[in-house]
Amino acid sequence: MSAILSEIPCPLCRVGLRVKLARSKKGKPSIALSCPVDGRHFRGFITDRAYVARFIDDLEMKI
Ligand SMILES: [Zn+2]
Repeated sequence: MSAILSEIPCPLCRVGLRVKLARSKKGKPSIALSCPVDGRHFRGFITDRAYVARFIDDLEMKI
């Protein structure tokens, strides 16, 4: 499950970041962001529970 977040561009090449659902070491869901062109450009995680839950809801509505 992945999507491109065009509103959040890579700081280096300005391409929309790829978002994927991930799990932290403790098993909590999180959102992994990475540059689709080159993973060395940008990598990050969002672990805010409310935002992650909203993101999952949005994805399920699109499926
Ligand atoms: Zn990039």
